Amino acid sequence: MDNWADYATAGVAVKWPYPIRYGEEEEISGDVLVLGGGIAGCWAAIAAARKGAKVILVERSATISSGAGGPGCDHWSLAITGNPACPLTAEEVSKAIVDSAGGYHNGIVTYITARESYETLLELEGMGAKIRDTENAFKGSPFRDENTRLLYAYDYENKFTVRVWGTTFKPALYKECKRLGVTILDRVMATSLLTEGGNEGSRVIGATGINVRTGGFMVFKAKATVLCTARPTRVWHSTTEETALFNSSPPSAGGATMAWRVGAEFTMMEKSMQAGTLIVGPCHGSGHPGNTWFAATMVDAKGKEIPWVDRDNNPLKTVEERYRPSPGQKFTLPHHYRTNEYDFVPPTTMTIDKQLENGEYTLPLFADLTAMPREERRVIFGLMVGQESKSRSTYKYYSEAGFDPDKDMLQGFQFLAPYAHGITGVGKRSPTYASALGSRSIRTFYGGGLVVDWDLKTSLDGLYAAGWSVFASGAHPEAACTGKYAGRHAAEFARRVPLADVSQNQVRSEKRRVYAPTRRKNGIDWKELNHGINKVMQVYCGEPKGEELMKLGLKLIDDLKWEAKTRSTATDPHKLSRMIETMEILTTAEMILHACRARKASSYHLGFKRWDYPAMDPEEWCKFITIKRVKGSVKVGELPFEYWGPFEKNYEAHCLL
Ligand SMILES: Cc1cc2nc3c(=O)[nH]c(=O)nc-3n(C[C@H](O)[C@H](O)[C@H](O)COP(=O)(O)OP(=O)(O)OC[C@H]3O[C@@H](n4cnc5c(N)ncnc54)[C@H](O)[C@@H]3O)c2cc1C
Repeated sequence: MDNWADYATAGVAVKWPYPIRYGEEEEISGDVLVLGGGIAGCWAAIAAARKGAKVILVERSATISSGAGGPGCDHWSLAITGNPACPLTAEEVSKAIVDSAGGYHNGIVTYITARESYETLLELEGMGAKIRDTENAFKGSPFRDENTRLLYAYDYENKFTVRVWGTTFKPALYKECKRLGVTILDRVMATSLLTEGGNEGSRVIGATGINVRTGGFMVFKAKATVLCTARPTRVWHSTTEETALFNSSPPSAGGATMAWRVGAEFTMMEKSMQAGTLIVGPCHGSGHPGNTWFAATMVDAKGKEIPWVDRDNNPLKTVEERYRPSPGQKFTLPHHYRTNEYDFVPPTTMTIDKQLENGEYTLPLFADLTAMPREERRVIFGLMVGQESKSRSTYKYYSEAGFDPDKDMLQGFQFLAPYAHGITGVGKRSPTYASALGSRSIRTFYGGGLVVDWDLKTSLDGLYAAGWSVFASGAHPEAACTGKYAGRHAAEFARRVPLADVSQNQVRSEKRRVYAPTRRKNGIDWKELNHGINKVMQVYCGEPKGEELMKLGLKLIDDLKWEAKTRSTATDPHKLSRMIETMEILTTAEMILHACRARKASSYHLGFKRWDYPAMDPEEWCKFITIKRVKGSVKVGELPFEYWGPFEKNYEAHCLL
C-alpha cells in the first residue's frame, strides 16, 4: 500500500513499528562528540579519529545519505592552494569573496577552505569518491584538464571549481568513518547541549538526544563537542508535500539553536532572501542559466535567444566566452556568490525586464541546450543535473519520461515568480519582480549562524562548529574543510581536559521538556505550530520591516512558546522529533526577530530593508551584529568587519597541520 488513504480504505490499523522507550536513559561517553552526520560532521569525525580521539557521531537520520550534501553535489569550489591548474592564491580569492559580500562574509571559513579544499577533494578520491573523468568521456573539451582529467566549471581560465560526481561522496565518507572506528549513532536526534554545572555560558561537556524510532533518551558525555547540525529552514515557509522539490536544505531543521539556549553567540541572523525559489522550485529541475545549468542558452516562448553579455554588457559571440573572464578581468566568481562586484562578476544573460514589458520578449523562458556545443550540453544534463543533490531525481525522472537535451528545451521559472534564485542575470535583482511578495526565507548559503574564532571554536569552551552551523558558511567544500579543521581542534582540546560530571538537574529538566508533548492527548501538532511560526514571520518579519511590527512579532512568538510548552502533542517518536525540531524553528524565529530589531539600518547585502531606517548600509552600521542569551535576556553586541585579522598569519598559527 502506498499511502494512508489505502490503509484507511482497507480498514487496517497501522502500528508504530518500534518499541517505545520514552524516558529510558542510556549514557555514552567519548573524547569528541560530533552532532550531525552531514558533510561537516563526517569530516569532523574523521579528522578527530585520525588524531586518535574516541569519537561519537550522532545523526538524526542515516549518515550514509543524510543532510543537504547527502544526495550529491555537482561542483566543488575553492580548489586553489595545491591545485596545479589554478593560477590564483587563497588570499586573493578569499578577499574577493568577502568584499563581494560587502564584508558580510566569513573570512575564516573561506580562507580555511581555499587552503584545504583541493587536498580535501583528493582525500575524498582516496576514500573511493569519483572526481575525475576517468572514462575520458569529455576528452578534448574546453573544461577538461588533460593532465589530471579533472573537469572544471564556471571560469575555465582560472579553474578553481571542479565538476564532481558528488553522489559518491557521502557513501565514501560514511565508509571512512566506519573504517576509523567512529561510533555512529543514526536515528538519534540531539536535543540540547550539556554545560559544566548546568550553567549558561559555561564549558560544553556533552549533549542529550532522543532516538527518533524508540523515543529513548540519551546522555552523551564528551571532552569536546563539534556542532554540525546546519541551520534550520521552514522559518517563513513550510510544506510537507513539496520537500523533495525544494532547492533549499533538507526539511529536517538544524539544531544549531541548541547552542543559543546555553549562551553561545550568533551573528548575521538578520540576513534573509526572497522566497521565490521555495515557492516555485524545483530550481535545478527547470531550465535556467546559473549554477548547475551555467551557462545554458536561454530563449523566450517564441524561440528568440537572450544574448549573453560580459561585465560591460557587451554581447558574447560564442558559448565558450561565457566561461571566460571579461577583457581586463583576472577571474570571475561563480554566480552562487551572488556578486555584483565589477571586478569579479561573471558573464550573464542580458537583463530583459524592460524588453518583457514592451513585448520584445515573451514568457515563459526556456533553457535551450540544443543550441549548446555537444560536450557542454552533456556535461550540464548528464553530469551536473545528475549529480546535483536532489536534482539527481530530476535527471532520472525527466530522462525516464523522455526528456532529451539533444532535442528538447526545458522551461525556466524566471519572471514567473518573485526573484527566484539570485543566480542569474535574467532580471537581476529586478525591483519590480523582487518585491512582488514581501516574503522571505532564511539564507542557508552564507546565512546567519554561530560566531567562531580561528580554532573554529564558538564563544563557549568545549564547543566547536563547522559547516552550515557557522555564520556565512557556504557550500560542500566549506563544510568539508571546516569539519576537518574543527575536528582537529576538538581532538586537541580533548587531549587537555577531563570528562566532566553532568548536571542531573540539567538532564532532568531536558527530559521534562522533550517528553511533554507525548503526555498530552489533545493539543497542537508540529505542523500547526510550524504554520503558526510561518504566519508570524511572514506578517511581522517580511519586507520591509519596522520596529513596532517586529515587537508585535516577538510578542506573538512568546504566545507560540507558551502554546508549545502547554499544548504541543506528539503521538509517536517520529512526530516527537518533528515537534522538538519545530521548537528549534520557533527559537530561530525569535533569534531572527531580535537580530532584525538590533540592526537599525537597511542593508543591501543582508537582504534587509527597514522602513523606519531606510538608509542603505550607512558606514556606522557596516559591522556584524551579534546576539546571545544571558540569563533569559538577549544581549546585543558587535564585531568589526574582518575581525579575523590577516588570513595567512592566523591560518598558519592555528591550522594544526
Ligand atoms: C539542493 C542543494 C544542492 C547543493 N549543491 C551543492 C554543490 O553542487 N556544491 C556544493 O559545494 N555545495 C552544494 N550544496 C551545499 C552543500 O550541500 C552544503 O553546503 C553542505 O551539505 C553543508 O554541510 P553541513 O554538514 O553543514 O550540513 P548538512 O550536510 O545538511 O548536514 C547536517 C546534518 O545534521 C543532521 N542534523 C540536523 N539536526 C540534527 C540534530 N538535532 N541531531 C542530529 N543530527 C542533526 C542532518 O540530518 C544532517 O545530516 C547544495 C545544497 C543543496 C540544498
